[in-house]
Amino acid sequence: MAKAILPDGSFREYPDGTTLFDIAASIGSRLAKAAVVGEVNGALRDLSFRLVGEAKVRLITEDAPEALPIMRHSCAHILAEAVTKLFPNVKLAIGPPIDDGFYYDFEMERPFTPDDLASIEAEMRKSIAANVPFQRSEASKADAGARLEKAGQPYKVELANDLPDGSITFYQHGAFSDLCGGPHIPATGRAPAFKLTHVSGAYWRGDAKNKMLQRIYAVAFVKPKQLEEHLARVEEAKKRDHRVLGKELDLFSFHEEVGAGLVHWHPKGAMIRSIIEQVWRDEHLAHGYALTYTPHIASEKLYEISGHLQNYAQNMYAAMEIDERKYRVKPMNCPGHIMIYKTRLHSYREMPLRMAELGTVYRYEEPGVLGGLTRVRGFTQDDAHIFCRPEQVEDEVLNVFNFVVEFLCLFGMNDYEIYVATRPEKAIGSVEMWDKAVASLKRALERTKLAYQVDEGGGAFYGPKIDLRIKDCLGRPWQCSTIQFDFNLPERFDVYYIAEDSSKQRPYMVHRALLGSLERFFAVLIEHYGGAFPLWLAPVQARGIPIADRHNEACHKIAAQLRAAGARVEVDDSSERTNYKIREAAMQKVPYMLVVGDREAASGQVSVRERSGADLGAMPIEKFLEAFAAKVKDRK
Ligand SMILES: [Zn+2]
Ligand SMILES: [Zn+2]
Repeated sequence: MAKAILPDGSFREYPDGTTLFDIAASIGSRLAKAAVVGEVNGALRDLSFRLVGEAKVRLITEDAPEALPIMRHSCAHILAEAVTKLFPNVKLAIGPPIDDGFYYDFEMERPFTPDDLASIEAEMRKSIAANVPFQRSEASKADAGARLEKAGQPYKVELANDLPDGSITFYQHGAFSDLCGGPHIPATGRAPAFKLTHVSGAYWRGDAKNKMLQRIYAVAFVKPKQLEEHLARVEEAKKRDHRVLGKELDLFSFHEEVGAGLVHWHPKGAMIRSIIEQVWRDEHLAHGYALTYTPHIASEKLYEISGHLQNYAQNMYAAMEIDERKYRVKPMNCPGHIMIYKTRLHSYREMPLRMAELGTVYRYEEPGVLGGLTRVRGFTQDDAHIFCRPEQVEDEVLNVFNFVVEFLCLFGMNDYEIYVATRPEKAIGSVEMWDKAVASLKRALERTKLAYQVDEGGGAFYGPKIDLRIKDCLGRPWQCSTIQFDFNLPERFDVYYIAEDSSKQRPYMVHRALLGSLERFFAVLIEHYGGAFPLWLAPVQARGIPIADRHNEACHKIAAQLRAAGARVEVDDSSERTNYKIREAAMQKVPYMLVVGDREAASGQVSVRERSGADLGAMPIEKFLEAFAAKVKDRK
């Protein structure tokens, strides 16, 4: 007899050789319908697996996290079947599941075309409609090799040669057979909802010395609705891509003549940045920070003391010589702030001491990782360093945390993941110091009542940290804010304060950035709003649209009046038709369009339209300004 011990601890007995599918069916027809594979003593098995003797058995239904990769990978077999049917000479490589779907690598004499993808997809749907079972068979290494050789599948021969004898299995569905360890869905009818998306080149075994194969990508999800939602999210993300919007809305650019990863902020992007910087400064002053500026280059001596030269040189640009002394472009603002701190003695009464700077730094990044504003080589951190007494650090971390949350809220970002990163293997400072610091980070977070996760070993070598990953409106996380302990620099620079008993004491040092860097945050902001910035951030808040040339003067007068009241206004006095001008302003995502014709010019009114297309009708300029100013004041 076979005995299946179920996850709840109960057991059921069956004749030896009963399949997992029949076990599922004996428990309930719903389970049999939803099961994809089973787990027997911890190993994933096909539903056709025959149970012998006693074993722990768990049936995995399609809503379980383990099911989706198996469904995706099984669909890759169906893809290979379809390609083989349409292109009998194709050579098959591998077809694993990936995030959001799966791929399969092929060697073909000509490139796949979009039309090919459509016919392949149609062929796959036929196979799925036929609902043919996946059948597993075992083969000796010699037999497998001979069989694959005969089938003209050199990549599969290579794969089989790498496997130990006795572990080689084939899976067949319909006329198609593939070397594979499994497990798979019971039959093609259980394939996930999928869509072939694109083809790209991929080297066999990821090695550029090998032949370039063609990789067909697909997205796949359990339910058609999930697939649709995913495709809609991808479409939306494409529309919101900050690199695309950056061009369309004339916000920033990069230049080959200047070099990779070096951003030029155009007037409209710079306007948004200057608004962010202004509110940043105001809020920092209100939160008890002092503002500083420090030089962009410093003698190597500074970075010798800080240890950057020894530990961070790979990210620093080469030295330049000035007056027979070597200088470096600054990669971090911290040493500069420490210099300011050390210019005089500090009493315990002054603590915590908070120094903030919009500090521009330059760091080397590999060319391959540069892309848009998210990874650049020159950027401005919204940096600050806090020096405090050890007993103040928990309150101080909590203050910073609340400040971050409050500040992000101004930009409509209320959703984030919180991580506490702990001691990595290579670290300075005693385990005891680390434990104490991590405990104070955790206590501070516990006081916020927000859930957080622990990133074991994810801290920097010089201290643990809290990372905040902002989730944008599409739910994508972005690493921006960070609150970072430092055991290293206060020691290296011999930073101290005078305690109550007149002794010299080492302060705790915290590095923190609310936004991370202005460049990266701008990328998040553009994608979060899809370029339609709220009124208070919009670089152009209103565009005057004269209906005909004779209204230009009245329109310019209105614009001047609005500008005097603090609004950012431009006038489209081109000779285009009104509808075209309105469409153009909406494409530039200008919040308000103020149309001026005969009626408006005569009565001192404007016809107000929103970028959404809503027509608010004609109103006196004063009335428009009142509502406008109220919105800007509320940062709406
Ligand atoms: Zn497989
Ligand atoms: Zn720092």
